[in-house]
Amino acid sequence: MKPAALVLGGGAFGLASALELRSRGWKVTLLDAGTIPHPDAASTDISKVVRMDYGRDAQYTAMGLLSLRRWRQWNEQWGENLYHEDGFLIMTGGPMQEGSFERESHDFLAGQGHVLETKNPEDLRRHHPQWNAERCFSGYLNPQGGWAESGRVVMRLKEQALKAGVRVHEAVRFGSWLMEHGRMAGMRDAGGAEWRADITVAAMGAWTTEHLPWLGDRLWATAQPVFHFRPEDPGAWRAPQFPVWAADIGTTGWYGFPANAQGVVKVANHGSGRRVRASEARVMPEGEEGRFRSFLRRTFPALAEAPAAASRICLYGDSFDGHFFIDHDPEHPGLFVAAGDSGHAFKFTPVLGELVADGVEGRPNPWLARFAWREAAGRGAESARATG
Ligand SMILES: Cc1cc2nc3c(=O)[nH]c(=O)nc-3n(C[C@H](O)[C@H](O)[C@H](O)COP(=O)(O)OP(=O)(O)OC[C@H]3O[C@@H](n4cnc5c(N)ncnc54)[C@H](O)[C@@H]3O)c2cc1C
Repeated sequence: MKPAALVLGGGAFGLASALELRSRGWKVTLLDAGTIPHPDAASTDISKVVRMDYGRDAQYTAMGLLSLRRWRQWNEQWGENLYHEDGFLIMTGGPMQEGSFERESHDFLAGQGHVLETKNPEDLRRHHPQWNAERCFSGYLNPQGGWAESGRVVMRLKEQALKAGVRVHEAVRFGSWLMEHGRMAGMRDAGGAEWRADITVAAMGAWTTEHLPWLGDRLWATAQPVFHFRPEDPGAWRAPQFPVWAADIGTTGWYGFPANAQGVVKVANHGSGRRVRASEARVMPEGEEGRFRSFLRRTFPALAEAPAAASRICLYGDSFDGHFFIDHDPEHPGLFVAAGDSGHAFKFTPVLGELVADGVEGRPNPWLARFAWREAAGRGAESARATG
């Protein structure tokens, strides 16, 4: 009899896992506490950065490179581009310092033979006039990279999952875990219905510790603000002159996107954020819009007064070291955790399914060692941002 898997969570981790397990012959049921795409899910947004630039981190760089190849294949399969290879422009306010994220990424990728275009203020004035060249001194453009329309990707993956025979149930609220003979046997929902399986994959993103409280010392939810601006002439805010960008991201966290088809330019900050409970109301702190606009005044002056089309508090499922958790829970046999995205997992959606399925089946995968079950040790989440 084919083994049965219960996947909790219809975001990037959950859908990728369900599709891969199904392709390996598992009977798969996927539940989400809300609709898929869920409006509050991290995977649900207009865009996410897809890149391979990760400093000198060989594993994330390799995962990024393989993901890029597969994003291109997905575009072909879908017959439309939900991944836009507009390039990734990484700039910094001074020379690219030794040891900086910018310098490390540049030298590591160039060392691997990737073709990068270094940039100076003159290049910005000529090719990327939206940038304040007085303030941005050096950096590079990686033509391999861009952005994915994340919410639409989630919709596509759900359709694919249904087509592949994954049983997808939405708006199923958690009740309690089903434990039998010391083993996790599934979940009883808030209505009392039982969902049983041989393995339960918890892919609940920032909500993970609300249902797995014993992970509270290693995983937590962090609130991050996002703003969407509507410039008068969106054409001036598209690639090639305005690709996906990062502005001193290693020290300030600022990054953003070209205008999408609706003419909206998204700006976000990969900073330390605020620790929150995932189920609490999402409130944009006072002064955030002002903080974003003062950054824009310094860096993209022509965007600073554009009306805000929307804003959102999105949650990272942070881990203590910034790396994902993809492993069996040794204290709860029958439970597999796929979480701890730490604000940087969406780009890897094309490889996440394989990682989770190899982990579930105990197949060797050299990339899994980093994501294995571990205790909280050493530095806090904040210092992990540099590689995130
Ligand atoms: C502001 C922001 C910007 C980001 N930018 C980038 C980027 O540019 N590039 C990048 O690669 N990554 C980025 N990320 C990270 C990326 O969004 C996440 O890594 C990824 O989306 C996480 O996917 P997930 O499936 O773990 O979580 P989610 O997408 O949050 O999905 C979790 C799902 O679980 C469901 N759920 C919760 N509890 C239950 C339950 N009890 N039962 C059933 N279902 C449940 C939820 O409804 C939700 O649908 C960003 C994240 C944020 C917040």
